[in-house]
Amino acid sequence: MVAVIVGVGLLSGCGTTFKIPKAAKSEVSVASQMFKDARSNTARTILSSTAAENRFSRVMLRVKPAGQKVCEEVTSDIKNFICDVDISIDTKMSVRNAYFTYRKGTPSIRMSMPLLQDTESDDEVAFVMSHEFGHLIGRHIEKQKKQALTGAIILGAITAYGNAYSASAGTYYDPNDVVRGMEIGAAIGGKSYSQTYELESDTLGTYIAQLAGYDPVKGAQFFVRPENTRTSAGKLSFWGTHPPDEKRLATVLATVNSIRQNGGLLKSK
Ligand SMILES: [Zn+2]
Repeated sequence: MVAVIVGVGLLSGCGTTFKIPKAAKSEVSVASQMFKDARSNTARTILSSTAAENRFSRVMLRVKPAGQKVCEEVTSDIKNFICDVDISIDTKMSVRNAYFTYRKGTPSIRMSMPLLQDTESDDEVAFVMSHEFGHLIGRHIEKQKKQALTGAIILGAITAYGNAYSASAGTYYDPNDVVRGMEIGAAIGGKSYSQTYELESDTLGTYIAQLAGYDPVKGAQFFVRPENTRTSAGKLSFWGTHPPDEKRLATVLATVNSIRQNGGLLKSK
């Protein structure tokens, strides 16, 4: 009972910065059709590592300044907020993945080589990179740390979920999202935080990719490809932490329409 009450408080205290556009019926059906088409398209080209590196560099030159500009506008009232992101390829990671984290205080975006090699267009790399920027701008790490701290106190008091705190106290790292969400969510009634943050990152990612001159709808098609969520190493891939569902694609479509109508993103509240 106590957990339920505090849980509601947590939900209201850590919302999103931006409104997540709700997809209209027509957008949902377009997404649904795109999803079907992507599922039936099994042809896949794997880029050479040189071609993948070139694509990454090309895209970064355009997405980095666009993301930084949006970041600086949104966080202008926060003292010493760093928007200059270190973006590079994680050469050690053997699964298709991308993530946002802080390394010694520097916001960092990493994309793995297998992910880059599996992309079909510059738009796809641009969307993933912009999505990770969204985690910085939405301040999801700070918010998750706060939630983890409060969550741990509740968990410690009522259940044996003690590990949730230590697992969550470190840096934000997308591959842990699902596990963490389940551990904490199990006790406070729903794993809505990380799902909501992913959608907010998609919303921001759509805006940034478009600002950088890419097509976010084409880019988001990267998410609708079929993929096993678990790799042989037992680690969750990008698809495991970021469910490839139609809702995400519909949200991207709705965001594009909302930006067109409003001239930009709308803040929450
Ligand atoms: Zn994400």
